[in-house]
Amino acid sequence: MLIVQKFGGSSVKDADRIRSVARIIAETFLLGHDVVVVLSAQGDTTDDLLAKAAELNRNPSMRELDMLLTTGEQQSVALMAMCLESMDLPAVSLTGWQAGIRTDAAGGAARIRRVDTERLRREIDKRRIVLVTGFQGVNKYDDYTTLGRGGSDTTAVALAAALHADRCQIYTDVEGVYTADPRKVPAARKLEEITYDEMLELASMGAQVLMNRSVELAKRYGVELEVLSSYVRAPGTKVKEDSKPVEEMKITGIAKDENAARITVARLQDKPGAAFRALNAVARAGVNVDMIIQASGRDDTNDMSFVVAEADADRAMAALEERKAAIGFDHLTADKNIAKVSVVGAGMMSSVGVASLMFEALTDAHINIQMISTSEIKISCVIERSAADRAVAAIHGKFFES
Ligand code: ASP
Ligand code: MG
Repeated sequence: MLIVQKFGGSSVKDADRIRSVARIIAETFLLGHDVVVVLSAQGDTTDDLLAKAAELNRNPSMRELDMLLTTGEQQSVALMAMCLESMDLPAVSLTGWQAGIRTDAAGGAARIRRVDTERLRREIDKRRIVLVTGFQGVNKYDDYTTLGRGGSDTTAVALAAALHADRCQIYTDVEGVYTADPRKVPAARKLEEITYDEMLELASMGAQVLMNRSVELAKRYGVELEVLSSYVRAPGTKVKEDSKPVEEMKITGIAKDENAARITVARLQDKPGAAFRALNAVARAGVNVDMIIQASGRDDTNDMSFVVAEADADRAMAALEERKAAIGFDHLTADKNIAKVSVVGAGMMSSVGVASLMFEALTDAHINIQMISTSEIKISCVIERSAADRAVAAIHGKFFES
């Protein structure tokens, strides 16, 4: 079998951790498998490099920033290769360029365009453990690019797809994907399986296990992922197209997103094109909108509310204010003291009462629901931010603990 294994920054943060990861790699290799390993930069290296850059230039060019950031992952793969050498195992480290990872030109958040697998194949055929830097590639100018924070997951999936790997294992510091954040909800359970779509909903809600783009890529190329711990030997969570239904589970997981703000456009004109003009102004400011709600009108006006990332709220407000006359509204308000809490699960398409169970949990906990939105596999409520953890615990109790 050809197995791609990815280890995150905390899994390789020091010599001890590198040694224990080397043992996992060695074990796989000595079973006779071909192994391609993707590594992140050690511990906080990427943040430290960003801080070093900021000391010298508040606004460095993307090219030079990428040049700097890619060194973090290079340290990891070289150190791991040395560790494996010391164990008498054949290993070779490759940068994104040497591994044939070609990206578009967008520095800082580049997308992988293709992987030229020739060199990788050659090294695999020589029965070497191939160690590849995560989070980086080269663009058409042969300049280094990086893939955005957490991008090593994406590297692993792209290599697994390009090499038609039999397995893609993402080793991290948690044991898998849970029904809720296990640090906050002690009764949270590890999931055996989850679908790509569920994972995407949970990831975009801030369940920080996998970078979103890596899941999109895995879905597109049908790469089945396994998320598992580099600390504890235990089966992890499989991420795949269909998961087997677990009878008693109406939902798969609960997530919260505290990075949210609500904007209300008060007394928006009630006529064709008003909503379009308002949301178009926001879109043109590059702000992503979700949970749009329009109240029923009175006196020829409506109130419209929507949710944006907190960091985007001021930009969205400015864009609306600037086009106020053309859009036609009375005034704007913003509430940055909110959180979104969501239940996610492909199973909710076939079970009744999921929404009411969620609302019952919030009612029992005396938490006021400010906005509600639903999709096929998700129900989200906007609530006061300070109640977010309590809300997740209450909902978890209703669905999983009774
Ligand atoms: N080292 C990069 C980061 O910290 C990429 C990664 O860890 O996946 O974001
Ligand atoms: Mg990292």
